[in-house]
Amino acid sequence: MPQKVFKFGGASVKNADAVKNLLQILSRFSDDKLVLVFSAMGKTTNALEKLLHASRAEQKALKNVLLEQLKAFHFNIAAELFPTTSFKPLTQKLGLLFEQLNTNLKMITLDYDQHYDATVGYGELFSTEIISYYLMQNGLPAKLIDARKIILTDNCYRAANVNWEKSCESIQKLAAENSNSRFLITQGFIGGTLKHETTTLGREGSDYSAAIIAYCLGATEVTIWKDVPGLLNADPKRLTHTKKIDHISYAEAIELAYYGATVIHPKTIKPLQNGKIRLKVQSFLNPDLTPSLIDYADESIRPVPSFIIKEQQILMSISARDFSFMNEDILHKLFGYFVETRIHINVMQTSALSLSVCFDEDNQKLESLINGLEAEFSIRYNSRLTLFTIRHYNQKLADAITSKHEILLEQRSRTTLQIVVKSLDIPLIDAALRDG
Ligand code: ASP
Ligand code: MG
Repeated sequence: MPQKVFKFGGASVKNADAVKNLLQILSRFSDDKLVLVFSAMGKTTNALEKLLHASRAEQKALKNVLLEQLKAFHFNIAAELFPTTSFKPLTQKLGLLFEQLNTNLKMITLDYDQHYDATVGYGELFSTEIISYYLMQNGLPAKLIDARKIILTDNCYRAANVNWEKSCESIQKLAAENSNSRFLITQGFIGGTLKHETTTLGREGSDYSAAIIAYCLGATEVTIWKDVPGLLNADPKRLTHTKKIDHISYAEAIELAYYGATVIHPKTIKPLQNGKIRLKVQSFLNPDLTPSLIDYADESIRPVPSFIIKEQQILMSISARDFSFMNEDILHKLFGYFVETRIHINVMQTSALSLSVCFDEDNQKLESLINGLEAEFSIRYNSRLTLFTIRHYNQKLADAITSKHEILLEQRSRTTLQIVVKSLDIPLIDAALRDG
């Protein structure tokens, strides 16, 4: 059975050069049997979301343009990978996938979440088709496996729950059947129900896919290949003075993901911890750099402070129309609405008469929440806010940041400081990150 699972995200396969770089990376592991999990290429998942929205809004012209763009993007990558040889079998497979996608896009009477899963997961199907073909043409024995047959889930579309027993059964069976292949290739992000419907595990879910497979195989190691030097203490797309986190515990990684660090999908760590599988975060641009390591690190060693910015937040204040106290009965009822609308609360605070909650903006969910609450509760909310978290803050950092922002909500624990603000002073935050 393969002992290592590699996950390559969208950036690591964003164009033909990136796919070529993949060969270099894989050549460093000639003694290993590997499972390779791939995301969609580049920003394909975002493009598919737009395509879905255009289809549902029956904007036919826009839909056709977007579909053609997506086709051109993938066929161009294929053409660049095979400048001199024919790649007809690949063209045919891609063509078929695009036809299926187009058919599925037309099913606009489907419930949104189900329609989403039937269409947006195609990015991973395209990428793995191209990559597996490329690896095989370059002499690497790679076998493509449809993730919908091994990551088995319920039909909670867009956030499907894994059926561990069935998934482990099928993963082990497929690995045994393909014991001759050095590389097993599969899609991240997508899964399938027992009735063969496609599901997804949530945005950025490919990390989780890799963890599920590793757990089911009893593997020892998962490596997430990224365009950054490892696990960083802030998002390098937003802030410049980031530092690498060399080694942290599973628990700390879960905390960081919980607060919104986009490095690792939040659900990824649990199966790794349960399976005692170490996680490495390694640079595909500079594979000689020592990766960040996540395992049973000593939790008494305080890691560097991590800064996490979450935008597009709503801060809602809810109080009972009859001025009832926010007692346990009322809170119980209120949380029921959040469970029903599947809104995840990022921070909350209660006072005698109101509950303040901060959550990600999602118009559809917001509308159903308000519909549910309106009769009994009065609601006020602000949107387009930012939630800023410092994990392992110190007094100096707290002072630097809280004194310079107009804060709508603040919360501190021993390890974590969180503020909700209208807008974040990025240069100030960057200077604080540099000075630690
Ligand atoms: N392609 C999916 C996304 O962009 C899943 C992933 O990359 O992890 O969210
Ligand atoms: Mg990703």
